[in-house]
This record gives sequence, structure tokens and C-alpha cells, in this order.
Amino acid sequence: MIDSSLVVFNSLSGKKETFTPLVDGHVGMYVCGPTVYNNIHLGNCRTFISFDLIYRYLKHLGYKVRYVRNITDAGHLENDEDVGEDRISKKARLEKIEPMEVVQLYTLDFHRILEKFNNLPPGIEPTATGHMIEQIELVKDILNQGYAYEVNGSVYFDVLKFNESNSYGILSGRKIEDLIHNTRTLDGQSDKKNPQDFALWKKAEPQHIMRWPSPWSDGFPGWHLECTAMSTKYLGDSFDIHGGGMDLKFPHHECEIAQAEAINKKSPVKYWLHANMLTLNGKKMAKSTGNNILPMDMFTGKNEMFKKPYSPEVFRFFMLQAHYTSILDISEDAFKCFRKRLLSFDGGRK
Ligand SMILES: [Zn+2]
Repeated sequence: MIDSSLVVFNSLSGKKETFTPLVDGHVGMYVCGPTVYNNIHLGNCRTFISFDLIYRYLKHLGYKVRYVRNITDAGHLENDEDVGEDRISKKARLEKIEPMEVVQLYTLDFHRILEKFNNLPPGIEPTATGHMIEQIELVKDILNQGYAYEVNGSVYFDVLKFNESNSYGILSGRKIEDLIHNTRTLDGQSDKKNPQDFALWKKAEPQHIMRWPSPWSDGFPGWHLECTAMSTKYLGDSFDIHGGGMDLKFPHHECEIAQAEAINKKSPVKYWLHANMLTLNGKKMAKSTGNNILPMDMFTGKNEMFKKPYSPEVFRFFMLQAHYTSILDISEDAFKCFRKRLLSFDGGRK
């Protein structure tokens, strides 16, 4: 038995807990990967570097770790309420290229950047399009269990039905009554019985180019479905760690729990770990406000935010000062100071 006093902050309990894996000596870890429709931004990098540190530390302790991190290459719509265009399809339409060219371009970018940050690759990196059969089977299972319904070729998860015997909102702390009051009704845009229901399968509109045959329609899977299909395929019905950015807690991870519990009747994950946001000069990073910097522009120094280039090592070293659950702010002043510290740490070799 590995004797460690590793303590993790579990989002499910809201407490620090001693880490004890389900199977002695082994750890199963699933981390939600990127939707590959644009360049990875620094906030995403923080999430993946955080889990790289966790992965390395677990291995260092002597655990045999199976680390699965997916690539979302279909099914992620622009809006969390299951409306809008598929993000990859939209990019392909705007750039006049094939959706799979978009996927290839930004998957390569993602790998290139994470390699610069000295991240280890995961053991398995499954894609949504590579697991269409598993996702369709999952929809069938949830329908058979009575927690989903079909309308006009689309299949939706019945949140209220699920909540009769389970707790929807257990991870994010949201109450079903508040969700009912606060979820917008999308008049005429949705076939859902209730606005808080979420799509398991969507019938493709004629202009939607990414589509697969299914028993219900030619369409595509809901975004939340792929992570349940791929995590259970490679890590089993219950596994140790599920990670991702804090913004995925709701609805994405809440929906993953509901899907898995609907078919397996047990909690899928023992420890939920969420990495917090990265801010730039004290403000939220966003493309729309210009308060944004791409990793490559930070490395080359060709950007509006910083006067000098900063290496991936400086960013990685800088990240170690904060716990992954707290908000971390980056600024040129802070980076300057950390570059000096890194130089002294490295015996002045850099
Ligand atoms: Zn996910």
C-alpha cells in the first residue's frame, strides 16, 4: 500500500480529503480536454499544467496512473442551452475549410503549446468523433432506464425525472427549484419538455455538416455525453479523479454525473478537482475586451500586454505559487520577479 498523506480539495464535498484510490496502487484520472476550434489560451494552459503536476506527483508517489484527457471534435454548441451552431462547424464555415481541418489545426496547436510547457501527454487521448458508437449506446441505455425522451429526432435528458430519485446539482450546489426559476425558456427554439433538460442527441439541421446516423435521426451527440462515454470506457463505472476548469462544474460536470448515475446507479467519481481562473492585470481574460494573451505571443514577446518575452518555464514556475483552486493573476511585474527567482533556482544557468 502506498503510504502518502496526499490531501485533495474535493469539489463534491467542498472539503479537503485524504486521497485514497479505489484500487490500491492504481489511479484513474479523467480531465476534460479542449474543444479544438481555436488557439488554446493561457487560462486553459493553467488547467492542463495543474493536472500535469498532479499526474507527475501521483506517479512520483508510486501510483500506476491511467490518465485520460479527451479532445472535443464534435457536438460542442455555441450556447450551453443546446442552441446555436457547432463551434467547429462554424469555424469551418467561416474559414471555408473542412471541419476536420479545423480539428487537426487546433489539436496540433494544443499539443505544441503543452509540450512547450513541459506537460506529459496523457495515456489515452480519445476523441468524440472516434466514440460515436459508444455515445449512441449510452443514449439507448439512458432511454431504457426512463431518464430521457425523444422529440422530433432529438433525445433529451429528463432532469426532473432524474431528480425524483437522485440529486441533480450535487456538485455545483444548485437547487433544482432555482434552476426551474432561472433557466430561460427558449420559445420556439427547443423541443425540450423543460428548459433545464439537456441534449443527449440532436437532430442535425439541413445546413449542419457534421452528422452521424442514429436510431433517432442523422445528427450529433450532446457535448456532455462524450465525457461519460469515454471516461467509463477507459476508467470504469467509478474512478478516482475527474478534473477540469472551474467553468465546467456547471452544467458540464453536473450533466456527466446525471448521465452516469442514470445508467450505473452509483456515483461515477470519487474526487472532483477543479482548477480556477487565470486573470491578467487583475481583470478577467477575454478576447472581446482585448485583455488577452496567447501563449505563443507571450513566448515571443510579440504582444500588446508585456514588453518582454517570457519563457514557458517562467509561467509554469509562477503557477506553483498558488493552489490550483485559487484565482491567479499574471502581470509583467510578477513575471519579472519570478524570472529572477527561476534564475537563482537554476543556479544562474538560464
Ligand atoms: Zn468533459
